[in-house]
Amino acid sequence: MQNKHSRSSAKKLSREKKPDIEMIRHSLAHLMAAAISKLYSGAKFGVGPAIDNGFYYDVELPDGAMPDLHRIEQEMRRLAKQNLSYVRKEMPIKEAVALFDKLDQPYKLDLLNDLAQLGTTDAQAIKELREVADGARGAKSVSVYETGEFVDLCRGPHVKTTAQLPLEGLKLTKIAGAYWRGNAQNTMLSRIYGVAFATKAELEDYIKLQEEIERRDHRTIAKRLKLFTFSEDVGPGLPIWLPNGARLLQLLENYVRDEEEKAGYQHVQMMHIARKRLYEISGHWEHYKEDMYAPIDVDGDQYVLKPMNCPHHIMVYKNDPHSYRDLPLRIAEMATVYRYEKSGELLGLSRVRGFTQNDAHIFCTLDQIDREFTQFFLLMKKIYKRAGIKDYWVRLSLHDSPDLAKYVHNEKMWKSAEAALEKALITAKVPYRKVKGEAAFYGPKADIMAKDVLGREYAISTIQIDFFLPERFDLEYVGKDGAKYRPVMIHRAILGSVERFIAFLLEHTGCDLPLWLAPRQIALITVADKHTAYAKTASAELRKNGFRVWELFDNESVGKKTREAQLQKLPYIAVIGDQEKKSKTITVRKSTAKKLTTFKLSALVEKMQKETR
Ligand SMILES: [Zn+2]
Ligand SMILES: [Zn+2]
Repeated sequence: MQNKHSRSSAKKLSREKKPDIEMIRHSLAHLMAAAISKLYSGAKFGVGPAIDNGFYYDVELPDGAMPDLHRIEQEMRRLAKQNLSYVRKEMPIKEAVALFDKLDQPYKLDLLNDLAQLGTTDAQAIKELREVADGARGAKSVSVYETGEFVDLCRGPHVKTTAQLPLEGLKLTKIAGAYWRGNAQNTMLSRIYGVAFATKAELEDYIKLQEEIERRDHRTIAKRLKLFTFSEDVGPGLPIWLPNGARLLQLLENYVRDEEEKAGYQHVQMMHIARKRLYEISGHWEHYKEDMYAPIDVDGDQYVLKPMNCPHHIMVYKNDPHSYRDLPLRIAEMATVYRYEKSGELLGLSRVRGFTQNDAHIFCTLDQIDREFTQFFLLMKKIYKRAGIKDYWVRLSLHDSPDLAKYVHNEKMWKSAEAALEKALITAKVPYRKVKGEAAFYGPKADIMAKDVLGREYAISTIQIDFFLPERFDLEYVGKDGAKYRPVMIHRAILGSVERFIAFLLEHTGCDLPLWLAPRQIALITVADKHTAYAKTASAELRKNGFRVWELFDNESVGKKTREAQLQKLPYIAVIGDQEKKSKTITVRKSTAKKLTTFKLSALVEKMQKETR
């Protein structure tokens, strides 16, 4: 929106010849409001901007009626056929107040009031005001646009007539609740969304992509596979892991824990609350308070829900005196932490209020960071490969020397840490990109970025060096020469948040999980009741060998049971009928393949064991 101010008049002229898509979208918002005021006499209007891919309008319908998208869209098309003009009128603000007062539009009056009076510092309000007037604050005059009988307070620009609107690229999509000015104290309006493109083909592509996103969305997958759920009684952003999901979570955690132990990490375990004092020492309370929950009073003392594991792991370090011979010390935990997220920003497992971090802190000397970084990237590569994650790169955030004041410690230390990180990336053969000036104040970091199937990019894990906390907690070790030194601390998480990692993994793989990670690995389907006894023996044999079996022994048809198992994404689907019963075999297919193969039970067990290794 703001860009428009800076565009040259030459550009404005060329745009008038052929309206740009944003102008079309904004003009469609007006047309939609015009249609709504025709259909629902007495409707009150909030704001209606153009947004990515379309537009919306916030409305309040008389008697709390729900907007009928189909009827509104039809009415828009009918009105557009009348070739209505968008007529701009400038008027003193007083005149506009009288006009919208007469039209009984309280939300427009609210905006006009702010426009006239300056005063507002609220970012959302200023954004809304920019929609309706150039002056934003302290305006003397405003412009209104007439479209047929509908009048709107608006800065424009708009198309000349509805004939310029490509209606073949229009579709009203959804209704959501939206508080007036985003404030929960105000009335809840209906936000009606439309998408709009220049052509029908673009609209169809967009709809197809949305369907694909919806199909791939981990929330859709999780619902079908019964992985996790939420409950209003438990509270938003606090996932409830169901048996299938909990198994997935634990399989992943156990695997990573084992790999970490092999790599020399020692796992510890902490409680979920701690004295506020701890985070005051660490500096989290000062810098991070907004992401934490309010303290809990325990016997007159203040405790908080644990937002970070670092200070806790520091307590593990401090429990013993250390010499250079103990280093590096690698302290790890599958740790639950709690962080405040606004309720509007919660999203499935991707944004939650409580989650599990696959966290670790490495305490070492400056000379050891090279090797620790390399080890980390190699371990990460191994784990990603096993989980089926491909195509990732590292975003290496470095300091900016002219801006040195905002960072801790000396430049020499920074330079050597940054060089070590880069060297480790080269040694471990991980593709990376450097970004100057993005480092945290306490040290350089590397974020591991990966794309999902739709090309959206996420930071899924991170490694970061810290010169600050060892100082805050006065950590030390005795060097070769008997003198005391400060260790460096490395924060690292391979899975980041395990919950978010699972969300990512489900979307990344379309839930075709590798066999070892599938909550249920093989579906056993009986043709008829007479096959159940043998099927039970087969099931017991598979279970005995550690496989997770889903028994489908009921009276449904084989076709129906197979489809269900495919939908539930079981890696192996096996059918047991007369032939199998007689020859003590099992006929299976991989969920993704058509080919059926008949195995002796022991041969199948061997094959599956090979695949999970
Ligand atoms: Zn407008
Ligand atoms: Zn940490």
